[in-house]
Amino acid sequence: MTKRKIYLLSPKELSQEVIAVTFAKTSRSPLTFREIADELSDESSAEFHEKWVVGYGHASVAEHAVLHIAIEDISRLAIECIESNRLASYTEKSTRYQKWDAGAFVTPPELDGHPLRDEYQKTVEMLFQSYADSLVATRALIMESNPRRENESDDAWDRRIRSRYVDACRFLLPAASFANVGMTANARVLESAIRKMLSHPLEEIRQIGEEIKSAAQGEVPTLLKYADPVPYLVETGKKLSSHSQPISEQAGDQNFYCKLIDHDPAAETKILAAVLYRFGEMSFAQALETIEKKSDFERARLAEELLGGLSRYDVPLRELEYSHYTFDLVMDQGAYFEFKRHRMMTQTPQALTVNLGYVTPSLITEAGFGTRYAAAMDAVVEAYKKIAAFNPDVAAYLVPNGFNRRVLASFNLREAYHFCQLRAAKNAHFSIRSVARKVYSEIATIHPLLATYMSLPEDETWQDHFTTF
Ligand SMILES: Cc1cc2nc3c(=O)[nH]c(=O)nc-3n(C[C@H](O)[C@H](O)[C@H](O)COP(=O)(O)OP(=O)(O)OC[C@H]3O[C@@H](n4cnc5c(N)ncnc54)[C@H](O)[C@@H]3O)c2cc1C
Repeated sequence: MTKRKIYLLSPKELSQEVIAVTFAKTSRSPLTFREIADELSDESSAEFHEKWVVGYGHASVAEHAVLHIAIEDISRLAIECIESNRLASYTEKSTRYQKWDAGAFVTPPELDGHPLRDEYQKTVEMLFQSYADSLVATRALIMESNPRRENESDDAWDRRIRSRYVDACRFLLPAASFANVGMTANARVLESAIRKMLSHPLEEIRQIGEEIKSAAQGEVPTLLKYADPVPYLVETGKKLSSHSQPISEQAGDQNFYCKLIDHDPAAETKILAAVLYRFGEMSFAQALETIEKKSDFERARLAEELLGGLSRYDVPLRELEYSHYTFDLVMDQGAYFEFKRHRMMTQTPQALTVNLGYVTPSLITEAGFGTRYAAAMDAVVEAYKKIAAFNPDVAAYLVPNGFNRRVLASFNLREAYHFCQLRAAKNAHFSIRSVARKVYSEIATIHPLLATYMSLPEDETWQDHFTTF
């Protein structure tokens, strides 16, 4: 009997394109991976990719070439475009644990030589100054209620309490604020990400697309060769935006912020039937019939067997995916920035504007900073309107995290478990906690049998941390 062999094809020894071809060739070659790799060169790998990946559309081969891209000092609008690719991995500089220096922002190239450039810069500088002053005001309040511990240094004390005040001040930071992101992606998803960037209405994002393409081509010259703008993406956005209607709904009640607009009323039955199907030999129709005939007590016992044994680190069985919920959500931009990271959802955000108003965190008001905060937000609205008249995409750079954003999101119960438990947890930002609680409460109302096993902290309501919303 031949011995099992498991080993790495290391990027320290082989280029990413050679690794991808080595794996691709196992499809037709009797040789071992090591032998295939030994026969390849960068040139022969490039020829293979030209023929199979580009020529014959065997694009999945490019998934075996993986890149780690460091991207610094870009706007948060650019981050949104980059992170809209669900099959890649990201880590960003946190607005919760770090502070932003004055001047750490993007001025969009569209404003070069434009009469509104000055007003743009003054507005963003005013926001950064308000942010810096709000840090001082809220920090003092948090220090009062969390005194220094014995022998605690200034740094250690600040680290312990930082997120409590930074969490409230980040609402003032505009989308222009610099962000850093580390992205890990395979060449297939990277090609799609670059195409999207090159087709974006904002010049900054098109430039970033070109720069990422040229940096990544150092590693995968053939696989990204044809990452070009996509006329379909450019033209379709232009055509469809002309159909948009003005906003008529008003902020104020929970229904405005979280509307469950679609779900499958039979989802619990389907999930339980899928579980019987998985562990038995019935057809799905038989499994459904079996569950439909069960008493409430028997269904509850099945639900307990399915979900009662979950520990904090476990993921529920995949059969929870036989369900769907579509939510129309309104959340502040800071919360959206975290929400968008959930890749197992289908998300459709609307453009970032000032049209849905802004929220005020309670700590800002309690620290006596409410009037400054409101004045800063009102000044943004004025400047936004002027710049939006020239170019609404460019005006979005001005919009701070406190303004509301509308997003349509569709996901299944398995992802709802992950999202609600992770984002309603005590260590999550209070904004996203409130989104997670609202989503949980809607799902628990319609599907109590299976939602009851989600583990969320008890003692919080969704209005707890805001004075205006
Ligand atoms: C307390 C806290 C602090 C955070 N701080 C930061 C921070 O400083 N910077 C930052 O950038 N982000 C931060 N995040 C965001 C975090 O890194 C995740 O991006 C975010 O919570 C989305 O969750 P997710 O990736 O688990 O799940 P989703 O994208 O919603 O996916 C659901 C599940 O699918 C699986 N999955 C999805 N994609 C992959 C994949 N590519 N590979 C393997 N499994 C996958 C995982 O099991 C995952 O849990 C923080 C989150 C928390 C809760």
